[in-house]
Amino acid sequence: MLDIKVTKTTHPKEKPQDESKLGFGKQFSDHMFLMDYTAGEGWHDARIVPYGPWEMDPATTVFHYAQEIFEGMKAYRTADGKIQLFRPDCNANRFNDSADRLGMPPIPPEDFVQAVKALVDVDRDWVPHSDGASLYIRPFCIATDVGLGVHAAKHYRFAIICAPSGAYYAEGLDPVRIYVEDEYIRAAPGLTGFTKCGGNYAASIKAGELAEERGFSQVLWLDGVEKKYVEEVGSMNIMFKIDGEIYTAPCVGTVLPGVTRRSIIELLKDWGYKVHEERVAIADIMKAADEGKLEEVFGTGTAAVVSPVKELDWEGKVAHISGGHIGELTQKLYDTLTGIQWGKLPDTKGWIVPV
Ligand code: PMP
Repeated sequence: MLDIKVTKTTHPKEKPQDESKLGFGKQFSDHMFLMDYTAGEGWHDARIVPYGPWEMDPATTVFHYAQEIFEGMKAYRTADGKIQLFRPDCNANRFNDSADRLGMPPIPPEDFVQAVKALVDVDRDWVPHSDGASLYIRPFCIATDVGLGVHAAKHYRFAIICAPSGAYYAEGLDPVRIYVEDEYIRAAPGLTGFTKCGGNYAASIKAGELAEERGFSQVLWLDGVEKKYVEEVGSMNIMFKIDGEIYTAPCVGTVLPGVTRRSIIELLKDWGYKVHEERVAIADIMKAADEGKLEEVFGTGTAAVVSPVKELDWEGKVAHISGGHIGELTQKLYDTLTGIQWGKLPDTKGWIVPV
């Protein structure tokens, strides 16, 4: 249990007036959570303070060797004004898996969740009111040693910031075009694919930009060894409905284990679907599309919940999915998960944590 010292701002910012213009991650709430780590001493000085910049020495290790990890989650406002989180324990555990791989100190999951709840509580008026909008929460940790030696730092800072963010789909689910990346890779066995470390995202930016220039919304990454098996899209896991059954890449070190992915798999199993968490070759997906068996394709992630895919382009071949329409299962998953998150449906799974 953390002893969190709270210092409230004396200059509260004006809250966004028009929630339809929020966008994603552009404005930040009034406060932030900070906590520091010193080797031999552990985590100390848990505090909530006014949001703002802090000074760092140019030789701080995170600037040079990217010892950095983060998480992404949301707080939702229900129709009767309650504020709630969705499976924050999953983010806490994934954060520690990332920390372990990057040689960083873990944070007890209950402390992580306590810190998130405490900050969201202080900034609860920043949780948007409009349909589909939410408070995006960004916990992160950086190495704060000063010096250029390459080794695990002895000092770290853990911080949480919050950004009121708009509805991902202002006008209903919007099917996207995906480029199957056949040159660059995102992960390989033994590397950091399963973590949320900034380096993974830095290495993915170029391929994403090239795909965007070509009119695609994201890239679909193939495995880093044979470039044969589908793994995940830019910032989402991906699922394929083929002949009535669901296929998605297994979480064996190269794919980020999404909280949404895991929740959707639980729902699908409850609904009687056969879910295959196994390697699927992109060639087999294109073949299923040719044979009319590729019924639905959708990305899954905290930002969009589900993102229907209407087109996959791989080595010049194009697979058109569901005639560009939103699949029935994709829509049902979206309605169910968002229903639970915004408190419109009962939380029969015990996924909701009130703030
Ligand atoms: N894969 C990657 C690479 C991501 O960045 C994300 C977003 N965190 C996901 C998958 C989906 O994870 P989640 O459902 O936990 O948001």
